[in-house]
This record gives sequence, C-alpha cells and structure tokens, in this order.
Amino acid sequence: NDGIKIPQIGFGTFKIPADGSTYKAVLSALEIGYRHIDTAAAYFNEEEVGKAVKDSGIKREEIFITSKLWLQDYGYDAAKVGTERSLRKLGTYIDLYLLHQPYGDVVGAWKRLEQYKKEGQIRSIGVSNMTATLWQKFIPKFETKPSVNQVEFHPFFQQKALREILAKDKVVIEAWAPLGQANPSLLNHEKLLIIAEKYNKSVAQIILRSQIQEGIITLPKTVNPSRMRENISIFDFSLNDDEMAVVRSLDSNQAIHDPEAEGVEERLKQYVITD
Ligand code: NDP
Repeated sequence: NDGIKIPQIGFGTFKIPADGSTYKAVLSALEIGYRHIDTAAAYFNEEEVGKAVKDSGIKREEIFITSKLWLQDYGYDAAKVGTERSLRKLGTYIDLYLLHQPYGDVVGAWKRLEQYKKEGQIRSIGVSNMTATLWQKFIPKFETKPSVNQVEFHPFFQQKALREILAKDKVVIEAWAPLGQANPSLLNHEKLLIIAEKYNKSVAQIILRSQIQEGIITLPKTVNPSRMRENISIFDFSLNDDEMAVVRSLDSNQAIHDPEAEGVEERLKQYVITD
C-alpha cells in the first residue's frame, strides 16, 4: 500500500544461530535464488545476514531485507536506539522494518519508524503479531497504515477474520510458520499428500504454492540447501479451485502462538538485545 515491491517468497532465519550458520544459510539461499531475507533484532543474527548479503556479489537493490524492532526499544526515543542498532548490524539500509510484537509503547515506536521511512534509511514499515483485536487497538492511533502484518499463517490457521480487516487498507499478510514449523500432522496430511502426488511435488510445496495463490507473502525457513531449493520451486505449477478449497478446508484455528494469551507480553519482555 506504499508502492514498494516485495518478493512474495522470502527466506526465514528464526532460530538460525549466529555462529556462522546464518551467514552460510543466507549465502546458500541467495545463490539458490531467494531475494528476500527475513531477520529480526531478536534473532541475534542481523550481522551475519548483512555480511552474507554483502558477500553474495548480488546488487544490494536486488535483495529485500526485512528486520524487526524488539520490545526493549519501543517508545519514540528508544526506537531510535533500536533502529540504529539494526542498521549498524546489517551494515545497510532496511527494506522493511517491523514492530516485532504488539506490546508497550507501540504508538511511540511507530512514530519513529515513520520518521525513518520519510528519511529513507527504511523503505517500508509494518507490524507483526497483531491480531484483529490488537490491530483495532493500535492502528487507529497511527498516522500512516502499516504495509504488512507478519502473523502466524499455515493451513491449520488461516487468519480469515484478520485478512478481511487488512484487505480494506491493502495491508498484506506475511506468513510466519508457513509450514506450521514442520508440524508432522500438517506435512503428512493425507488430503495434501493426494495433491502433492498429482503434481509430483512435496506437501511443503503444495502449502507454499497455496499461500502464493492466496496473495500472501511466505517466509519458509530451512538450513538445508535441498529444502531451500524445494521451497522455492513452486512457480512451475498451479493449484486449481478445488485444490485451493481443500487447503482452505484445513483451517481449524490451531495456532502455535496466541499474542493475546496471558503472560506472553511479560515472557517476551525478558529477552534483551545487546550491542
Ligand atoms: P516454518 O514453518 O518455516 O518451519 C521451519 C521448519 O520447517 C524447520 O524445522 C525446517 O527444518 C522445516 N522445513 C523447512 N522446509 C521444509 C521442507 N520442505 N520439508 C520439511 N521440513 C521443512 O517456521 P518458522 O517459525 O521458521 O517461520 C518462518 C519464518 O517466519 C522464520 O524463520 C522467521 O523469519 C519468521 N517468523 C516470525 C515470527 C514473528 O513473530 N514475526 C515468529 C516466527 C517466525 P530445517 O531447517 O531442518 O530444514
């Protein structure tokens, strides 16, 4: 909704350690063809993402980098500290910067992000983990609308109500845990296995393809280069309406994470990012 283009498939880096593994994984992903990398201050691996992007030999403007501000840096003043830290660790401008979690002085932090966007060090800004209730709590207080809301999304949790609200403002959903964090009952689901067999694809590929067809940005994570290739090899076939209906029918409100659950805010606030 701000005119910035984003590759619809991105490479997730949550839980990839910063011991050289993130550098290696991101370099492989870029070599395989990913042009969108999703990191966060709270993943502690921004530095390795930035280094891999730099060493890839690919022009910076051909790669889309997303990072996220963490809770300790919420509020107008603190957000400057957090954003500068992300910019420094990545060693480059940020294509999309998100408010990672919807707690605390969200409105103050957003105001600072708006300023960075105006100044150009951040091209686009958005939020994450905003349920319909949290969206309605915070967004009316923002001057400009977020461009994306990065939320849990997979066949068992398809965010129907939230998508209707976001569509009105042309806010795009980004799917975290697009493969349900490798939930075996999802990746071995018999209805998905039937479709996978028809196209000679894996269930993971069917799921990711369905997300592309839904118009959702998807961010599968893997440290395994053959799965990196598998997850991006989804543009040579398409699912028909009946097959899309099968995937939609699996929506059963089975979330991994509930941002509104009691104690979540306190638990997340215990993570502290250091310089
Ligand atoms: P995913 O749904 O991407 O699942 C990742 C798991 O699936 C890993 O265990 C991976 O294993 C496995 N996997 C990947 N590809 C395949 C495949 N083709 N077949 C079988 N297994 C596969 O979960 P994530 O939680 O990582 O979410 C994706 C990204 O979303 C994150 O990396 C992060 O960037 C973002 N995210 C954002 C959050 C937020 O609060 N905004 C929260 C959580 C995630 P292996 O690596 O061993 O291959």
